Amino acid sequence: MPALISLIVPCYNEEKALPSFWAETKAVTDRMDAYFEFIFVDDGSRDGTLRILRELAASDSRVKYISFSRNFGKESAMYAGFEHARGDYAAVMDADLQDPPSLLPELLRAVTQEGYDSAATRRVTRKGEPPIRSFFARMFYRIINRMSDVDIVDGARDFRLMNRKFLDALLSMKERSRFSKGLFGWVGFKTKWIEFENVERVAGETKWSFWKLFKYSIEGIVAFTTVPLVAASFIGFLFCLISLGSTIFIFVRKLLFGDPVSGWASTACIITFLGGIQLFFLGVFGQYLARTYLEVKNRPLYLVGESNLEEAEKCAQ
Ligand code: UDP
Ligand code: MG
Repeated sequence: MPALISLIVPCYNEEKALPSFWAETKAVTDRMDAYFEFIFVDDGSRDGTLRILRELAASDSRVKYISFSRNFGKESAMYAGFEHARGDYAAVMDADLQDPPSLLPELLRAVTQEGYDSAATRRVTRKGEPPIRSFFARMFYRIINRMSDVDIVDGARDFRLMNRKFLDALLSMKERSRFSKGLFGWVGFKTKWIEFENVERVAGETKWSFWKLFKYSIEGIVAFTTVPLVAASFIGFLFCLISLGSTIFIFVRKLLFGDPVSGWASTACIITFLGGIQLFFLGVFGQYLARTYLEVKNRPLYLVGESNLEEAEKCAQ
């Protein structure tokens, strides 16, 4: 019997892209030898996304939708999809056709026939992206891979297909600040990478501002490495050594030459420099503490405003 695949699609203000997404994805999946359920997660859209999803669900019984009470972010949307996936395999796909549906058969082959637990995609070009954004993205991947034991692949998309084992491993990680690119790597297992050229989104615009991406990258660093904390201790220790050395130096110079120590400017520079470093690392500690606080509060990752899951369950019985 063909396998059941849960296709998870996070959507935030995607009314313009959804019709072409559905047409193209359906054309590909209809030709595949597998059953599908489509789980659209409306991440608190303010446009007609939910209306389109209701229409899709009415026209095709395989379509399920979950609509959040507000915008919780793509990570929460993906998690909601994972939680409700009933398939033997689950796949995540963006709604803007930047993840080509034509790759789905190849992804499925990797997990069903080639013995992989997941098949992931990676774009090899960043064509069509502002150069400054590509530059910072590259820097981010270089830094995080130096600092973290988990391999976080440059250009990796969230577009991937995984088996139950992989999916259950992801679900077993209950953390609130989710950085999927790291979680996918952290769980391990065997992953096949499939490369493709960057495709521009079919309609609408990207939801990622520079500031949002910056915050997301901090999220990734805090979630996957404690190297900044080690760096704080190391730099603190280094400055202790420097200050011990210079104290001895000044003391000996005074004894030998009787030089009075002159110059307030250098003293002021040293004080502001050290003050800066201390505040900087206080900020770093703060980041870790804030994440701990968020985890301890144990709030749900998302709240559902509306969904057709119950009706879909009933229809299936
Ligand atoms: N998305 C979401 N919630 C958000 C932001 C984005 O569910 O808060 C969805 C969006 O609808 C799309 C996918 O995540 O399907 C990727 O977003 P986008 O295309 O804006 O990101 P980019 O491709 O530019 O990285
Ligand atoms: Mg996109």
